[in-house]
Amino acid sequence: MKKWLIPLLAALLLWRLLPSVPEESTEEVPVEVPDPSPDTAVIPALWQPAPPRVEEVRSEQEDSGKTISEEAAAPSGRDASERIRLLTPGGVITLSLRDYLIGVVAAEMPASFELEALKAQAVASRSCTLHNLRFGQSRHSEAEVCTSSACCQAYRSDEELRSRWGDNYAVYLDKITEAVDATDGLCLYYGEELIYAPYHSSSAGATEDSSAIWSAAPYLVSVESPETEALVPGYCVSVSFTEEELKEKLAASYPGLKEQPLLIGEISYTASGRVESVDLGGQKIPATRLRSLLALRSTSFTLEKVDGKYIFTTQGWGHGVGMSQYGAEALAMEGEDSASILSRYYQGTELRPFED
Ligand SMILES: [Zn+2]
Repeated sequence: MKKWLIPLLAALLLWRLLPSVPEESTEEVPVEVPDPSPDTAVIPALWQPAPPRVEEVRSEQEDSGKTISEEAAAPSGRDASERIRLLTPGGVITLSLRDYLIGVVAAEMPASFELEALKAQAVASRSCTLHNLRFGQSRHSEAEVCTSSACCQAYRSDEELRSRWGDNYAVYLDKITEAVDATDGLCLYYGEELIYAPYHSSSAGATEDSSAIWSAAPYLVSVESPETEALVPGYCVSVSFTEEELKEKLAASYPGLKEQPLLIGEISYTASGRVESVDLGGQKIPATRLRSLLALRSTSFTLEKVDGKYIFTTQGWGHGVGMSQYGAEALAMEGEDSASILSRYYQGTELRPFED
């Protein structure tokens, strides 16, 4: 194993051991905002069910009545031959990696996205899954993965997809299945190493360097990401707190702040332009910690005090490392293919079939 991988894996493992933080802000985040999964897998994540952003032109096609399993009867590639145990709310089920990935891509990215973006998502999700399988990093004793985006990756069953997609079920299932089959077995490798491929919903101008949040990885560096406010619903979101509310939310980690006036001091930034830390009441607080404690959408934020209220205005959604899903959509809309999208967000990696 490469030397630099050890601290990364250790950081990922440590993160998995930490309790999930309540990140979803039900008060401030408009529920109608469509959004793919803001964070991936081992990283505690937000996932909001998303209505299709763009109406699918083929939506009038009739429901073929096929289910994921029937769809999956098609090719017998690498994905079809890999078995995976999935912990669902109803118990453990065993299914092929292919069936699993169809349910994951359907849950993690709106089916209305471009096919090339969905193919990039299929590869990222497959890489995360295979990486966890091969490195024995499952959090579960009875299964390799579960259906929660806050733990593993989000997964939706055939029944859930039928109910969610309604009249678009057949069209969307075909599209997601095509994205998985067209990339059958393909994972991201850096040299000989199968990589863990984190992804997030959207970035503000550039993705984040892994070293700013976890530890450095040569393929997880900050790169430009083209999505804009025009493409991403809820790109900018403001949340405000009174001084008392803010103190209360920070109290568990920073009890000393209770007695202090919460003056806003120096704000430092990472190389990608996100906030690195904020000095509040004389206490230097890492932005990632603030994001967790205050359920902020991202560490790309401004902070101001207006009429006694502390106003955080975030841009983008998610930790910012690896592929931006809306960035992938923007690139696909410009005509880039999935391989090109992946090579941008996972620098220096190659697409290769996973090994048995
Ligand atoms: Zn899990």
